[in-house]
Amino acid sequence: MSSPKVALVIPAYNETAVLPELFRRLTAIFDAQPHVAWSAILIDDGSKDGTGDLLVAQCQRDGRFRMLGLSRNFGFQAALMAGLEQCTGVDAVVTMDADLQDPPEIIPQLVGAWQQGAEVVLAVRRSREETGLRRMGFNLFHAWFGRLVDLPIERNTGTFCLLNQAAISAFRQLPEAHRFFPGLRAWVGFTRVEVLYDRKERAAGEPAQNFYRLIRYAFDGIFSFSRLPLRFLTLCGVFIASMGFAIGVFFIVRRLMGIEIAQVGFTTLVTLVLFLGGVQLIGIGVLGEYLGRVYDEVKRRPNYIVKRRVGFE
Ligand code: UDP
Ligand code: MG
Repeated sequence: MSSPKVALVIPAYNETAVLPELFRRLTAIFDAQPHVAWSAILIDDGSKDGTGDLLVAQCQRDGRFRMLGLSRNFGFQAALMAGLEQCTGVDAVVTMDADLQDPPEIIPQLVGAWQQGAEVVLAVRRSREETGLRRMGFNLFHAWFGRLVDLPIERNTGTFCLLNQAAISAFRQLPEAHRFFPGLRAWVGFTRVEVLYDRKERAAGEPAQNFYRLIRYAFDGIFSFSRLPLRFLTLCGVFIASMGFAIGVFFIVRRLMGIEIAQVGFTTLVTLVLFLGGVQLIGIGVLGEYLGRVYDEVKRRPNYIVKRRVGFE
């Protein structure tokens, strides 16, 4: 039997500080597991710090490494997709971050679970070394996300996972532009197995995904997988309209009975007008989130553009 072909798909954006260490640790794993035909596809997501040059040099040094250079920074999800779509002829793919927050030493366990029959193997964080606001944000998101969406999305999973051939081709068929990888992974289904690991701080450098990007990512997760915000707005509308109706009837009846209506205070009016105006604006904003997504989808632009390929046949 020929050895199984496993490809790692690793997006990298301005990661010169961690790449040498990443290469060293990946090579060690590849060498220790010669019964697997390894390859590593690194996607240079329009880096500006020489990440591309480091990747090309590594591809020339070691034939197991490949590089896809995108024409600009398309963002993590697009880079990941580029890797998944371009890695043809492999039996399984492991997706992971370049910054060594996903320890490569877990990869053999993922591969082992796959060889025992799992179709999707998820690396599940036992712990997270992040602190402060970021940590709070992550916890809040993971706690609420599962309740908002109608999918069994595994908690404490990120990018780090293994997909078998069938799961990869399911992924390649998804046409949407707004991608939330953990959500889509839950959506495609397949039997899954979990492997626990400890999530590290990034080995070096700064997180390329700043807080704003993570919020956008969280929005993508919620708005692409749930219609609950719209339903909630409808409920708010129904509630406020019923209140308005009841209050209206109350005052009309009093008026008809000839009961003098006390002067309604300025404060009440201002509060009502501002509150209702605010609710309506939030409503328009939520509608806009959905509409904007529809707009992006109908444009049908490709999610990324490949400028350079190194190491592919
Ligand atoms: N990344 C990317 N394109 C971007 C931003 C990030 O390919 O526009 C890569 C980055 O190099 C890293 C991974 O995505 O390998 C995760 O990024 P980061 O560590 O900044 O995110 P976090 O760990 O905070 O989610
Ligand atoms: Mg990171």
